[in-house]
Amino acid sequence: MQKKIYLDNAASTKVDERVLKEMLPYFNKVYGNASSLHQWGQDARAAVDLAREKVAKFLNCSPEEVIFTSGATESDNFAVLGVILASNKEKKHIISSPIEHHAVEETLKFWKEKGLLDSYSLVSVDKYGIVSPKDVEKAITPDTILVSIMYANNEVGTIEPISEISKIAKKYNIIFHTDATQAAGYLDCNIEKLGIDLLSLSGHKIYGPKGIGALYIRKGTCINRIQIGGSHEFEMRAGTENVPGIIGLGKALELVMEGRKERNEKITKLRDKLISGASIKIKNSHLSGHPKKRLPNNANFAFENVEGESIVMSLDLEGIASSTGSACTSKSLKPSHVLLAMGISAELAHGSLRFTLSKDTTERDIDRVLKVLPKIITRLRKMAPTKLNSKH
Ligand code: PLP
Repeated sequence: MQKKIYLDNAASTKVDERVLKEMLPYFNKVYGNASSLHQWGQDARAAVDLAREKVAKFLNCSPEEVIFTSGATESDNFAVLGVILASNKEKKHIISSPIEHHAVEETLKFWKEKGLLDSYSLVSVDKYGIVSPKDVEKAITPDTILVSIMYANNEVGTIEPISEISKIAKKYNIIFHTDATQAAGYLDCNIEKLGIDLLSLSGHKIYGPKGIGALYIRKGTCINRIQIGGSHEFEMRAGTENVPGIIGLGKALELVMEGRKERNEKITKLRDKLISGASIKIKNSHLSGHPKKRLPNNANFAFENVEGESIVMSLDLEGIASSTGSACTSKSLKPSHVLLAMGISAELAHGSLRFTLSKDTTERDIDRVLKVLPKIITRLRKMAPTKLNSKH
């Protein structure tokens, strides 16, 4: 039987064995509530404290600046709504980009519709999905309370110039948030070097568990809590701590820092082999995102005259996991907002296919994809009822 090949690591990763091993005792041995005074609780508290120190080390911040959440969706919501609630400006305006994850994009839309946010500007991106710091500066108004630009994009892997953007935000005394969910596994997340006030993280994108994340909050940042109840997480996020998840996130980030450079080099090499192989073997294919300023594990293509969903399903039958930006998640077959914002036509965006490699991806895996994928695309193109417009 063929080995299964999982190349959808931007969606979720396999929990590293070392992470799992550290988490397991916290399900059925050290299972106390970390707020309890007895030994069971105190042991859990000590482990949470240690994990918080590991996250703080990863970010180069102090442990009190790390707030555990249920994942990056919550962290993004916390950053956006928390800053809106804390601001005492009469009118509130936020700057973001059109390629943010829905956790930011939809949150902005929602609070504007509800009237808590007066307006927001989405600065445009270039054909690679890069935000221009100058455009961010131009969008600033006296009412701007927050700039939120992601560190690296989840669909095309493009890395944003966040240090430059953070300098601009600082110049105007505006809070700067970055969603580092996809970047955390590969890029330096030193908040001092990057000049960040708020940063979102998630466990399951970095070989950690699902349902755990964190929001870094720079000391002194004007932000409200959004989840109310007990006094957990320095009174910033109520709810009994997800102790196994927190242990897992701490360990996952510790492992990210070990041998990151070599791991990135290895993955980049395989990714480049996949990109050049696919470009040579498959006619009328385009790489989406920046050729160099992209996450080491991301290869995102747009293939003309073929549907991304059909490719994903055909690859799945071959035991290969991939993803498409043309997912028919709701009733409408809407192409990815990221690809459209980059100026890719709706027709071409429908033929998008994303592979995201992991630390465990091998050269044989890539060879197999390069053998299978061209055949699938040729077959699907033959079946296509009409030729789609291929304007890039
Ligand atoms: N932000 C980005 C950039 C993401 O890629 C994701 C997940 O795909 C999220 C936020 C949401 O993360 P979570 O699944 O932890 O809620």
